[in-house]
Amino acid sequence: MTAPHTRVALMGATGSIGSQTLEVLRREPDSFDLVAVSGGRRIHELSEVVNEFAVQHVGVVDEEDRTRLAALVDANVQIVVGEQGLRELSTGPEVVVNAVMGFAGLPVTLATLEAGARLALANKESLIAAAPVVASARRTPEAKILPVDSEHCAIYQCLVGSSELGHPDVTRLLLTASGGPFRGWSRDRLGSVTKSDALAHPTWTMGPKITIDSSTLMNKGLEVLEASALFGIEVDRIDVVVHPQSIVHSMVEYVDGSVLAQLSRPDMRLPIAYCLGAPERLAHHWGQLDFGTALTLEFEPPDRDAFPALDLAYVAARRGGAAPAWLSAANEVCVEAFLDDRIAWRDIVPLVTRTMDEYVDDPLDSLDAVVANDAQARRITHGNLPS
Ligand code: NAD
Ligand code: MG
Repeated sequence: MTAPHTRVALMGATGSIGSQTLEVLRREPDSFDLVAVSGGRRIHELSEVVNEFAVQHVGVVDEEDRTRLAALVDANVQIVVGEQGLRELSTGPEVVVNAVMGFAGLPVTLATLEAGARLALANKESLIAAAPVVASARRTPEAKILPVDSEHCAIYQCLVGSSELGHPDVTRLLLTASGGPFRGWSRDRLGSVTKSDALAHPTWTMGPKITIDSSTLMNKGLEVLEASALFGIEVDRIDVVVHPQSIVHSMVEYVDGSVLAQLSRPDMRLPIAYCLGAPERLAHHWGQLDFGTALTLEFEPPDRDAFPALDLAYVAARRGGAAPAWLSAANEVCVEAFLDDRIAWRDIVPLVTRTMDEYVDDPLDSLDAVVANDAQARRITHGNLPS
């Protein structure tokens, strides 16, 4: 059994992963204590979480949010602000779930690992942008990353039993991709994609940024970088396979040709629960498959020509240094501009490519370098947006 009342912090509690984490915690009141939460702009929703779970420590983005939240929660609740607040909340609990969206999740990733705690990581952007810095924080005794991202959680489970360092018994990782809402579309047809087309994912309901990333396949590109950083396997041993049913969450091929896979219905509560409970499995039937009815699983190669974002990620990985950080930062800016109706869907990947064309090699050896590279890539991308 999981030790009673493991103390959990949930950063990004008001988002898609955040609210699904709360669903898991509601079902496990005897195992986990939610001791800290943070949220971005949805202060009313954040107050509801604080009041329901009697959370004592809360993080908000700025002073204005602190004032708004203070009026909605018990006077004893401690409210911290900004990046420093996120770091404080991530230091102390035994498990920290990082469900913040984008580069803003970096303080959570680093502070959790530096405190030697378990990081249940949904926020892939922090790992991609700061891989060498995260790698050194990860060497803190007792620090551990458990991946919430469904593909990486699947691979993590398929690697149990494989030797730890470099996985010499593994030939390749096979990341599955649903293919997004535009699977099978030609480049021509993709030219007229609208916002509502792009926000309609066929198999997963997620926050807006990752939903758009799934429509361009940038999400899969970012996941290749995420997998490489997490498992220490170079990207040339990581392949992407389109699997429209989203039942096989990813696979590992071993040197004897065996392929191990993890299967379930698509339900993020399953990987979240795995990360909270590991090495135990929490006994809920999220994701259980019905083999009593016919089940067809299809696999096909991705259309790399129609979805060039995928290869952009491989190029960034081979270039190394800060190139993945630039890719992620440029993409964040472009997706935000698309969601704000400033650019068309078809402009997202070409604008990211334009930023990458300006990348100059940087070894990315410190947190300062990570922050500077993120800012520079954002500045260049903003400069290329229509005014
Ligand atoms: P979301 O937009 O639904 O929620 C994001 C959360 O982060 C919210 O609580 C928001 O208030 C908070 N936040 C946003 N900007 C912030 C800032 N500047 N400072 C502090 N907090 C901020 O996003 P999501 O879909 O839950 O995704 C969260 C992360 O998990 C992303 O990195 C995403 O790639 C990853 N992920 C999500 C899914 C999914 O199914 N939604 C699956 C795999 C990985
Ligand atoms: Mg994923």
